[in-house]
Amino acid sequence: MVKKMSVKQEKQLFGTNGIRGIIGRDMTPELAHRMGLAVGTMRPGIIAVGRDTRTSGPSLVAAVTSGLLATGCTVVDCGIVPIPALQFSIRDLYDAGIMITASHNPPEYNGIKVIDGDGTEMGDEEAIRLEYMIFHLDYNPVSWQMMGTIRQDTGVADRYVKAIVESFPQAIGSGIKVAIDAGSGAAYQTTARILKELGSEVLTLNTRPDGTFPARNPEPDKGNLMPLAELVTQVQASFGVAHDGDADRAVFVDDKGEYVEENQEFALIEDVICGRNEKPGIIVTPVSTSRLADHVASRHHCSVYYTPVGSIYVARTMRSLLQEGKTVIFGGEGNGGLIYPQHQFCRDGGMTAAMMLFLVSSRKKPVSELLLDLPSSSMIKKKVHTPETKRLLSFILDQYRHEKNITIDGIRIERDDSWALIRPSGTEPFVRVYVEAFHNKTALSFWEEIQSVIIKVIPDCVIT
Ligand code: MG
Repeated sequence: MVKKMSVKQEKQLFGTNGIRGIIGRDMTPELAHRMGLAVGTMRPGIIAVGRDTRTSGPSLVAAVTSGLLATGCTVVDCGIVPIPALQFSIRDLYDAGIMITASHNPPEYNGIKVIDGDGTEMGDEEAIRLEYMIFHLDYNPVSWQMMGTIRQDTGVADRYVKAIVESFPQAIGSGIKVAIDAGSGAAYQTTARILKELGSEVLTLNTRPDGTFPARNPEPDKGNLMPLAELVTQVQASFGVAHDGDADRAVFVDDKGEYVEENQEFALIEDVICGRNEKPGIIVTPVSTSRLADHVASRHHCSVYYTPVGSIYVARTMRSLLQEGKTVIFGGEGNGGLIYPQHQFCRDGGMTAAMMLFLVSSRKKPVSELLLDLPSSSMIKKKVHTPETKRLLSFILDQYRHEKNITIDGIRIERDDSWALIRPSGTEPFVRVYVEAFHNKTALSFWEEIQSVIIKVIPDCVIT
């Protein structure tokens, strides 16, 4: 069963994942300072500030802190922490927070994420208000008597590790060997500790924090996890786990050193969570996620609820469905960013690593065998480069209006044996096309059909 949420609003500075940019070009201390002033004006109170390991982190933290202090906030400096760890502490202890991170982007990037007092990323309406304040220099600086102060919190990682470990039975990792690639990012503080405290034997790579990311790009993908795959096979680990720069995503290699495609990862974790839950519930995910999610949900009499692309929409939809009295058991994106509502409403790399350990320990099967329980599927991903993204989408909407579809973010066309998503990029001149079917031939012919529609309306587009 498939449900969906309403259309998202337009933002200018904020993208799908906060504000991001290249240092010195579009991400500057001036912008961070203004963001500090704006957040301090909107959320006067105790504001936690954290960062990932990037070289530009201290400069941007100082700038954002300056703005917060000038608006009378108490700034809690949390240092280098995984973003889910910061979100966990904000939910319990602080009025709001700011994370300086560019997540998976290369080292020359950095960014700003604003976290609300409930630990979720700030919603669109308020992000648009912050943008207005920044564009119009509309702040409330305080007098000298009201200036804010700074204090430290060195317990953010500890609280997060403890909460995750306590979510599982004791020593579930006993007898299980795991390899970790922290990618020189914020995960160096937490994932090895979580898995060790759950009883497993842990081997690590790239656990020295380094904002130049010397071993691999912060984006963990099939192409740069060969050292992790080699370590897994060499020491005969049950699986390997790798994180992005701020450790909200976790991706895996199986016991044979093979990369686990992220939609398969989603389905594996979804399966263990649905099985762990006493009654059926809702799984929330964006329209870009594989139909494997729906397949696994049906196995457990659960349903999938679709949102626009972006973890913020997933997290906030999960919360609002729960507030309506619905049973929401799991959510996240098909890119290794998974959300566990019983823990907190954000993508959570440490929890995902622990959940994979729980899966292996409870099923007593290696990850490569667990993957065999999932149907095989074939996904085609393309980019159609054209400045006329709006015209292309409206033509496609018209062409496929008679088929079953979801139009909350681009158009997702649902057929019995396949589906496709045609979705314009929010910031760049191209349209993404995803086509998936359980058989390669079906996916290919559906893609060829869509391609011919695209070429009919924009003959000079470039498809990559
Ligand atoms: Mg991230």
